[in-house]
Amino acid sequence: MFTATLITLSLLSLTIPSSSSDHQPQSTTDVCIIGSGIAGSSLAHFLRKYSPTTAQIRMFERHPVVGGRMATVTIAGETFEAGASILHPKNYHALNFTHMLNLKVKGPSASESSFSLGIWDGQKFLFKTIDSNSKNQIVQYFISLANSLRMLFRYGVSLLKMNTFVEVTVDNFLKYYESEESRPIFSNVEDMLKWADLYNLTTHTLEEELVGLKFSPLLIQELITVITRINYGQSVRISGLAGAVSLAGSGGDLWSVEGGNWQMAAGLINQSDVTLHLQEEISSITNVGGFYELKSTNGNSYACQITVVATPLDELTTQFTPEISIPERKLQHTYATFVRGLLNPAYFGLNSVSDLPELLGTIESSELQFTCISVLKEHNANDFTYKLFSRQSLTDALLDQIFSIRNETIRINWGAYPHYQAPEEFAPFMLDDRHLYYVNAFENAASTMETSAVAAENMARLILSRLAGQQPLGSYGLKSSTSDSNLQHPEL
Ligand SMILES: Cc1cc2nc3c(=O)[nH]c(=O)nc-3n(C[C@H](O)[C@H](O)[C@H](O)COP(=O)(O)OP(=O)(O)OC[C@H]3O[C@@H](n4cnc5c(N)ncnc54)[C@H](O)[C@@H]3O)c2cc1C
Repeated sequence: MFTATLITLSLLSLTIPSSSSDHQPQSTTDVCIIGSGIAGSSLAHFLRKYSPTTAQIRMFERHPVVGGRMATVTIAGETFEAGASILHPKNYHALNFTHMLNLKVKGPSASESSFSLGIWDGQKFLFKTIDSNSKNQIVQYFISLANSLRMLFRYGVSLLKMNTFVEVTVDNFLKYYESEESRPIFSNVEDMLKWADLYNLTTHTLEEELVGLKFSPLLIQELITVITRINYGQSVRISGLAGAVSLAGSGGDLWSVEGGNWQMAAGLINQSDVTLHLQEEISSITNVGGFYELKSTNGNSYACQITVVATPLDELTTQFTPEISIPERKLQHTYATFVRGLLNPAYFGLNSVSDLPELLGTIESSELQFTCISVLKEHNANDFTYKLFSRQSLTDALLDQIFSIRNETIRINWGAYPHYQAPEEFAPFMLDDRHLYYVNAFENAASTMETSAVAAENMARLILSRLAGQQPLGSYGLKSSTSDSNLQHPEL
């Protein structure tokens, strides 16, 4: 068991002299966090929660704003989520953050909740739900029923198995919210996944998993492929776990934070007494015996007893001395293109814009240059805001074919999430045998806001238990050092 006092003593014993020179470490900092996304901000939150006396937390963010892949885009004066947009109803850390920070929960946009879906193969719609503009609830109910039956008719009972597959995975994931008394601290991703019965799903592709469960090939090739392409820009050859998480993100009752999910990161950082360095990119991390020297591109250097990398290392240019070793992996780039204008129905072989679905998904085909198009907002019958995802940047020439009106276009190239594979190989949480940590090692299990928060919560406990000289793995019986019970979800 660790206590606040024990942790404080450990931290004091690590204190080193400071120097004010620009090229010498400026001051001694207990924990330095690189990255202000949901992983870095929740780590700061959980460190304060479990050890309120942790002396100083410094956070470095290379961009002028916090939030990382939780970011908004403003197009024609209106703001929309540009990266991570939706949360699952059982994303309990995100829900707790939202309530704790007095943020407002918002339902999904029309396209995210609507049943108006079309599956496009580059030439024709393979499947299209019936759409209705009727506001009458009874009409809506019957249309929704008809659409469910049409889907059932096309994909058979496998469609029902899809829910079960997702529910089992979500239920296993809920183990990460169990009380700290019964939940071990994990020093590697593999053990963390094995404990929740999720590891096996990372050893097979989603396709292998679903074929094994006797899902209909048509369901896998069409609807399920549409979902993995929307959520991870990849085919059903992603790992079974990333696939299940992706399918969970296509269910009902999805939500987001009104005004932008990034506010969770901002609020957590504000509440956690963090010294935030915006527009300061860490270029090197050197183990100098008793501490880490972090150098930034601004010419500053900082001495940190504990350093946590809270961003994917895959495309990071930061130099580590001594070098670190992690499995080589690629990030999947997703190009998000936002257009204010009007789709061209003729491009899709239709007569009227009103015949187009609010969410247009695609199957795997070399002919297709985009993965999905969704309506973010209908301003009026001839004026919409759309979001397109693609694996490559969409040229103006192509956009001019897809759209009949294009008043404004914004493109964002995201180093979005891991390029998933199976069997998945995981980077370590601990990058050396001292205090250099990597939260985003967990991202190769699945990349979501909630999985980042769950990994950060474990990391806070891992850091504190190691400072207290404890064995992390299998360390049942740890106790929180605060009585902060309002952070627990209602089922605890
Ligand atoms: C297009 C898109 C759609 C998505 N949709 C969803 C969704 O609907 N739901 C969902 O849950 N998840 C979604 N995700 C995934 C989700 O965004 C991520 O899993 C999550 O936000 C990762 O958070 P993070 O804190 O781990 O990393 P990031 O958010 O990437 O944070 C890392 C931060 O570190 C900073 N940084 C990097 N290097 C340095 C350096 N050397 N020095 C200083 N700062 C540095 C970066 O600028 C960044 O701000 C989506 C992602 C994308 C790209």
